[in-house]
Amino acid sequence: MTDREVPRPARRFDGVGFSEIVRVRNRVMELLAAGGQVWRFEGGEPWMNTPEAVKAAMGDALARNQTRYAPSSGIPELRSAILTKVRERNRIPADDEGPIVVNGGMQGLFAGFAALLDPGDECLMFSPYWTPIVDLIAYHEAKAVLVPTDAARREGLTAALGKRVTPKTKVLYWNCPVNPTGAVFSSSEVEEVAAFARDRNLVVISDEAYEDLIYEGEPNVAIASLPGMAERTITAFTLSKSYSMTGWRLGYVIVPKRYQSAVKTVVLYTTNGVSTPTQWAAVEALARGTEYVAEWRKGYRERRDRLVAGLRAAGFELETPRAALYLFPKTPSWLGADSRQAARTLLDEAKIATVPGIVFGPEGEGHLRFSFSVSEQMIAGGVEALGAFASAAAGR
Ligand code: PMP
Repeated sequence: MTDREVPRPARRFDGVGFSEIVRVRNRVMELLAAGGQVWRFEGGEPWMNTPEAVKAAMGDALARNQTRYAPSSGIPELRSAILTKVRERNRIPADDEGPIVVNGGMQGLFAGFAALLDPGDECLMFSPYWTPIVDLIAYHEAKAVLVPTDAARREGLTAALGKRVTPKTKVLYWNCPVNPTGAVFSSSEVEEVAAFARDRNLVVISDEAYEDLIYEGEPNVAIASLPGMAERTITAFTLSKSYSMTGWRLGYVIVPKRYQSAVKTVVLYTTNGVSTPTQWAAVEALARGTEYVAEWRKGYRERRDRLVAGLRAAGFELETPRAALYLFPKTPSWLGADSRQAARTLLDEAKIATVPGIVFGPEGEGHLRFSFSVSEQMIAGGVEALGAFASAAAGR
């Protein structure tokens, strides 16, 4: 026996947070376990099941004994289906070795940052942002430099980025459509950001997880499709949202030549690839193109509109977002602007689960994130509970 402490974990974890959304979920689980009803808007995944044909394709792969090691960057059939998809739909001039299959968008993003960032490097990113990104940057001992989105859109993206770029800036993280706001940058804004990246010789990590969940207006412009961008952009895509496959852990990155070996190495030494039968399911999903999501869009739009109306009736201020799965309203005065406190009040007193906006960066403070990708009953019940709570609060 010794009273010495065992050695500390690696210092690189010192600045890395652990998802606050998980904390909200844990509290929801406690309330549910105690037998209560919770109106759940804290999640972030499609509400429908994975399509039957996709599930059947995995079953077929198992029946064919497609159960052995595959090349760690992906089976050739899937890489070739991805190549066709990104060249035709996203208009990214990817080279044949560009697509690398990964365990969801998350691993693609991790591999992208790992391939690019040295300690001390800086990464520009708009805020509010999807929370894990700042942790991925911190893990690599690099620095996230936040660009407040609303102010940047008012003053011009080039000027806002120009104020924050330094000789240490190497990467620009780009997410469009945006989690948590559901915003879609216009094609001229995408062009502006691309021009900035080219001028300053930056590499872009483009996170296009919500590319298919756009409900009206212009489709998404893949930043890697713009002139001179494919060679300096790693684009992370995922089947999670487009095919309702969040639990399958299947995504792909499109990687320019210069970084392919680094990204492949990360995948090889972390997961050694995605499960082989899962990849066969993905071949089937991609063969269906946007067939499923085209069917689902109507249901998303209806849910979004009903929740927007319910929130407005309860005194929340918000515009209807054009994309993704989320509403990101300002908290009304009866809830106060401290988003953690507001989320706690809503959960404890009205049994409505949301995510505090501060989780998505300082620019998210004063907001709450609601997912509208829930059942119709959840929306109806949640809106009713919120209305009742709002009028009681207003009368207090
Ligand atoms: N990027 C964004 C912006 C996301 O919101 C998500 C999932 N919530 C992902 C990437 C990654 O999703 P997955 O790992 O399931 O593919």
